[in-house]
Amino acid sequence: MENLPQICVDTTDAFITTERFGTQEEVIRWIKEVGIDNKVTVIISRSDTETGKRGRSNKIIFGCDKGGKHKITDSGTQSASKKCGCPFKIRSTPAKDGSGWKIDVKCGLHNHGLPDRLEGHSFIGTLTTDEKQHVADLAKRHVPPKYILLSLQDRYPENVTRITQVYKHKSVIQKEIRGPRSEIQHLFKLIDDAGYVYWSRKKDDSKVVREIFWAHPDSVKLLNIFLIVLVMDSTYKTNKYRQPLFEIVGMTSTELTFAVGFAYMESEQTENFCWVLEKLTELFVKKDMCPQVILTDRDLALMKAIEIVFPRSINLLCRFHINKNVGAKCKQHVVNDLQKTIDTLWMEVVWASDEVEYGQRLHQLEQACVDYSGFINYVKDTWLTPHRHRFVGP
Ligand SMILES: [Zn+2]
Repeated sequence: MENLPQICVDTTDAFITTERFGTQEEVIRWIKEVGIDNKVTVIISRSDTETGKRGRSNKIIFGCDKGGKHKITDSGTQSASKKCGCPFKIRSTPAKDGSGWKIDVKCGLHNHGLPDRLEGHSFIGTLTTDEKQHVADLAKRHVPPKYILLSLQDRYPENVTRITQVYKHKSVIQKEIRGPRSEIQHLFKLIDDAGYVYWSRKKDDSKVVREIFWAHPDSVKLLNIFLIVLVMDSTYKTNKYRQPLFEIVGMTSTELTFAVGFAYMESEQTENFCWVLEKLTELFVKKDMCPQVILTDRDLALMKAIEIVFPRSINLLCRFHINKNVGAKCKQHVVNDLQKTIDTLWMEVVWASDEVEYGQRLHQLEQACVDYSGFINYVKDTWLTPHRHRFVGP
């Protein structure tokens, strides 16, 4: 029978942080340092890298070196006798909002004693005024924390500065720069300082911002010269509010692209897109101007808004986005061996040069998909029936 753990040391507080880290290496370094401060030998018990396959995602799981069970080796002797099944566990994964790697303390408890911990260690290696200024100077130039640390160590070798202090001081500086402004007020200030043209819309009488749309004056000039093709698309995971960033991109006659404008919207409904597109028309030097072609990724709400605001524009769908969606659906519905064949047949349908060829190729695809009605119905209902005349490559 196993003995119940007698000793319990809680190190939760030491490892809890809202900090976001740029790379896995920075996470590991931070955790190991906090571990050293608290006399915990932190080890990586598992790490995984996203491969696109199901169940694989970027993560690192940390444990205590006393975690895990006693292992019996082939020779029957006990190895790693220090192990006592310590439950300590920390998980680090990239934050969903794209702000970097975050840290979750799954269990901060240890079922064993820790060596005498340094009391009041927080004052060790506190940054001096000079060092703080140096961190501020480098942070202003967007130097990553790990290089700030190296620079500090070069400059002030007598001080034992650690990466945790660099992170801490950086967050202090960021708060100081923002001052009493909220994050959204600060965004407005930055947009304004940089000379952007911008509009925003608030919720009725409240202070809550619903949408912001902004464009650079140079973009406005280009837009009025090259109002032929516009590409509209949303990027996700750009901010902690999980709001999609809607981007409008233009194309010059030499096929170079340029950013026209950006918008944050409270939700992606036709009404929200209409507001943004209306603002876009205010950038046109002449009232009746209208882009000839607008490329989108089949966001129905956006397509509806384009019909309303730009009834004379031709709305085409980007084949790249379509193929990505169809490919994902194919993986869901179709057995492995057949996926490639069906994907090829689908491509042939997409690239058919006339109606006859299209009919023949669609028939082939349908035959290959006899057992996969879910997939073929999706392809037909979502793409082919309503939109096949809008497909455009690549
Ligand atoms: Zn432990």
